[in-house]
Amino acid sequence: MTDEFTTEVYYDDDADATHITDKTVAVLGYGSQGHAHALNLHESGVDVVVGLREDSSSWDDAEEAGLRVATPDDAAAEGDIVSILVPDTVQPAVFEAIEDELEPGDTLQFAHGFNIHYNQIEPPEDVDVTMIAPKTPGHILRRNYVENSGTPALLAVYQDTTGDAKAQALAYAKALGCTRAGVVETTFREETETDLFGEQAVLCGGIAELIKQGYETLVDAGYSQEMAYFECLNEMKLIVDLMYEGGIGAMYHSVSDTAEYGGMTRGPRIVDEHARENMEQVLEEVQDGTFARQWIVENQAGRPQYHQLYEAEKNHEIEEVGARLRSLFAWSEEDEKDEKAEMK
Ligand code: NAD
Ligand code: MG
Ligand code: MG
Ligand code: MG
Ligand code: MG
Repeated sequence: MTDEFTTEVYYDDDADATHITDKTVAVLGYGSQGHAHALNLHESGVDVVVGLREDSSSWDDAEEAGLRVATPDDAAAEGDIVSILVPDTVQPAVFEAIEDELEPGDTLQFAHGFNIHYNQIEPPEDVDVTMIAPKTPGHILRRNYVENSGTPALLAVYQDTTGDAKAQALAYAKALGCTRAGVVETTFREETETDLFGEQAVLCGGIAELIKQGYETLVDAGYSQEMAYFECLNEMKLIVDLMYEGGIGAMYHSVSDTAEYGGMTRGPRIVDEHARENMEQVLEEVQDGTFARQWIVENQAGRPQYHQLYEAEKNHEIEEVGARLRSLFAWSEEDEKDEKAEMK
């Protein structure tokens, strides 16, 4: 088991496709990642069989796309590489159903480390265990491949019994189109813990709470819902786009000096040392497995807390205001695309 943090980056020339072109890859699941992996691998000349339940609504889609489809256990029996691309919460059950089909020297391939890192899947000792985790949703992985551009990905090796695990994972990444953009080496532990921390503290959880608290502060002080929505939610995209293109400095360069000064003096008062302490506690709960245990038990119980929180989010006033405003104004992505096409 490899657990040190590393940061090697690999490109097309570092990957030898022959490590995978003589293999059969069983892709279990045909959702966001599954359909993109199956189609990209297939068009890169790899033998692919998609593993789906017999009652799966995706069965016809996969066949119509020119792929072979079988039940998960039949696909796994045939596959030298078994790529587990069903939702993380159902992976342990799917693994149990296909475990007996794994032969010595086969590979279990993942796109996220949760179940391996938190021991929800305990792979046999005589198979390789690897991860290629594209850093985009599946439809973008697919679109980039078709358009001949690349998608960055993470690579990790958890178990290498054949001595070929990393070379084969790189070949898998190449067949997905990921080595065109760059494949960063990490570990199952680092990928899992940083992914969970990022989505909890900053991306999904952090940003949603920041927006809602800002919105509520304005509305409670008597400002209109519409103004609060625009200032605290809608403009977020413009700011994040600037940061994505050029970092925080480029964002501050583009906004007014007043916004820059106000942001630099007031920002640290909002996300202050308490927020930092809470972030450290959230990270600790990721590292010591507290979060993973809570989420696993929550799933076993039928997700009572999840459903309750989901309803509360859905019924927050900002969602109702947003739906109303978005239907009145023309700034959906579709409209932006149409505008760009017209300008050409
Ligand atoms: P998804 O929810 O889009 O797709 C799941 C697929 O599995 C569907 O085809 C569904 O029909 C099938 N499925 C569901 N339950 C099943 C069961 N009990 N038995 C067999 N098949 C079942 O999943 P996804 O988002 O593509 O995630 C797959 C993996 O990729 C996860 O490990 C996830 O963490 C990882 N990942 C996802 C993204 C992303 O943006 N979606 C990005 C990187 C990595
Ligand atoms: Mg096999
Ligand atoms: Mg992530
Ligand atoms: Mg995640
Ligand atoms: Mg403003």
